[in-house]
Amino acid sequence: MDIVIRHGTVVTAGDISQTDVGIEGGVVTHIGRGLGPSAREIDASGKYLFPGGVDVHTHVDFELLGNRSVDDFYSGTAAAACGGVTTIVDYALPAPGQSIQGSIEAWQQKAKDKTIIDYGLHPVILEPTQKIIDEMAEAVADGHSSFKLFMIGMARFDELAAHYMKVIAQAGRVGALTNIHAEDQCLISYLAEQFAAAGKFGVRHFADSRPRLSEGLAVQRAIAMARYAEAPIYLVHLSCEEALAPVREARAHGQIVYGETRPIYLHLSRERFEEPDGERYLGWPPLREASQMQVMWDGLRCDNLQTVATDHCGWSLTQKKSGKKVEDLLPGMSNLETMLPMLYSEGVSKGRLSLNRFVEVISTNPAKLFGLYPQKGTIAVGSDADIVIFDPKKAVTIRHRDMHSRSDYELYEGFDVTGWPTMTLSRGEVIVENGKVLGSSGRGKLIRRKRFSPM
Ligand SMILES: [Zn+2]
Repeated sequence: MDIVIRHGTVVTAGDISQTDVGIEGGVVTHIGRGLGPSAREIDASGKYLFPGGVDVHTHVDFELLGNRSVDDFYSGTAAAACGGVTTIVDYALPAPGQSIQGSIEAWQQKAKDKTIIDYGLHPVILEPTQKIIDEMAEAVADGHSSFKLFMIGMARFDELAAHYMKVIAQAGRVGALTNIHAEDQCLISYLAEQFAAAGKFGVRHFADSRPRLSEGLAVQRAIAMARYAEAPIYLVHLSCEEALAPVREARAHGQIVYGETRPIYLHLSRERFEEPDGERYLGWPPLREASQMQVMWDGLRCDNLQTVATDHCGWSLTQKKSGKKVEDLLPGMSNLETMLPMLYSEGVSKGRLSLNRFVEVISTNPAKLFGLYPQKGTIAVGSDADIVIFDPKKAVTIRHRDMHSRSDYELYEGFDVTGWPTMTLSRGEVIVENGKVLGSSGRGKLIRRKRFSPM
């Protein structure tokens, strides 16, 4: 064997066991106690072995509202690897008039020489023409088995809703999962105009400009569209009860609907917008009242939400502070490096999530939903040796200076967490050891994903 990791506690979605893990040719080949000798021995006494995190919602190298994000696929995936994430699925946005294939190729160009972890791509559809709908089957056959729709202005959703419904139906027919950003543009546009007229500018008014009901309305509409299109949907970055309630109800009726939440809605509340530089916390949808954080934790525990994903997009604080009107404020933040340790510390250590559920929401479920399982998302014989060695006792105060994203601020500056990755392996190669990045740029591969099947 190339590597044996000994004496660790292996945690998967269904199991916890003290055992050795043997790796050969980049895959797990042996699991059991007292495995034979190997070229490299790694002692994991007192540590957990988790399957590497699978973050299915990233915008690593991205342009929005005239700004280019500060990370590229090297810095973004180095941050991911340091935080125990070994696979991302990034959103490939088309240029005006571009084909699905064209957007995939453009994103591969950005990623291929830089990424240090494996990645997949979700094609985004911003122009739901018949030509684009006709291209969807080929994209799925090429291994891109999910599409993203935005129910907001940048996608002209309200104007083109009937065409977007055909996209959802076609995705279902060709074996893909449709990811939906659900916020109601009618309410948002109306409020933005009212706020501007009343002189309410800036981040302090941001949460009220995109209220919980705008999210709830859009989720209800998306679920109804998917029901009549007879297709599965996956609702990204849900933040509040108004969004979760229709998901819970649809799932109870057997509709194939999944929900994702995002770390900021578990760890932060809207009071943050009152801080100096409150723009640093700004995302679409906004942070909500503190009461909603518990709603999100309950949703995760009870399987009304299936995944946690970051929506990572690294900006500088200057970029974040550049917008004036509420609708011009730049959403998104760097989050890949802290997702696992924060979720472990706030979730597992505080008794909100079991160890198995933690692994399920950060690795197994996203891998299953997006056609990566069992290559990714578990530690099993035959799976890629994407493994995080995690020290549950390691106390860390989160500081921007220790992070690997090129963003010039840290969302959780000064937060104390217990538990941090000490080593990250990707396909059997140690790519991070004690915070030092060892993986070379461009070593990561584009993963061709399988067709969607319900879980
Ligand atoms: Zn996003």
